[in-house]
Amino acid sequence: MASRLDHHPRTATRVSLAMVDQARFSDNVRTLWDMMNPCTLCPRRCGVYRGQGQAGFCGAGESPLISSVGPHFGEESVLVGAGGSGTIFFAGCNLGCVFCQNYDISRQRLGRAVSLEVLAEAMLELQHIGCSNVNFVTPTHVTAAIGAAIENARNTGLTIPTVYNTGGYDSVETLRRLEGLIDIYMPDMKYSNAETAGELSAAPDYPQVNLAAVKEMHRQVGNLQIKQGLASRGLLVRHLVLPDNLAGTTEIVDFLADTISPQTVINVMGQYHPCYEAAAHPAINRQPTRDEIDTARIYAQQKGLTVLD
Ligand code: SF4
Repeated sequence: MASRLDHHPRTATRVSLAMVDQARFSDNVRTLWDMMNPCTLCPRRCGVYRGQGQAGFCGAGESPLISSVGPHFGEESVLVGAGGSGTIFFAGCNLGCVFCQNYDISRQRLGRAVSLEVLAEAMLELQHIGCSNVNFVTPTHVTAAIGAAIENARNTGLTIPTVYNTGGYDSVETLRRLEGLIDIYMPDMKYSNAETAGELSAAPDYPQVNLAAVKEMHRQVGNLQIKQGLASRGLLVRHLVLPDNLAGTTEIVDFLADTISPQTVINVMGQYHPCYEAAAHPAINRQPTRDEIDTARIYAQQKGLTVLD
């Protein structure tokens, strides 16, 4: 996709709300910007001053780094439609998954710094070419810029749904500031066991953080609403099956069915394969078997969840 991003300089002017008319933005967006200095945007609460060039676990500054923009046809069918899901991939990540399939983006942070205006223009351009939604991939560490750009884009004609496509390590405090800006939350639920989350994603508190985040997401948008085959609003959970039930499928499905809603829509994904640093972790140095994947899907169906194909 030809994008105005292609013509933007690699080193964009540092994005600071002080450089634009702050009155344009809501109190929630201004608070998200304040939360970057010191940074408490995500549960790691690194406390670095991103506006002064300090970097925390995710490595991000104030400016969002974008690695790619364009229609994507490999997402869940309820997000794709005829024009594709309009993905915006952000470089950097607040998780440290040893099996990351996009480590050049997440860890090496290959991307281009963009201004709020260019980010908003990219969203409008995705809508213009017929995408079904704007899909923010790995958004947690750049929520301030995303919130500001959504407000900017909506003021100038953005009407398609926004999708928050996250690894699921999000703080409730930050999510509350996104209320009304995000239409579809699509969190991973990666683990239910702290030891596994610590070893595989450097986030031993992931299970309790993730449960609280999913609860808040569902409070904001409810169950997934699908109209004419396309998701318009709601919660869509992703769960990647790992070998030997390391992902804790049973506990995650039980939580969704018993605490969130038995109508929850879930994608139980079976495409795990070892990459990046997975070879150093024998337990995940193989693909899950067909039987392991089927067992996970059947359990979710037995609990009444809607399991996507
Ligand atoms: S967003 Fe980045 S810098 Fe901020 S707390 Fe999270 S990992 Fe640390």
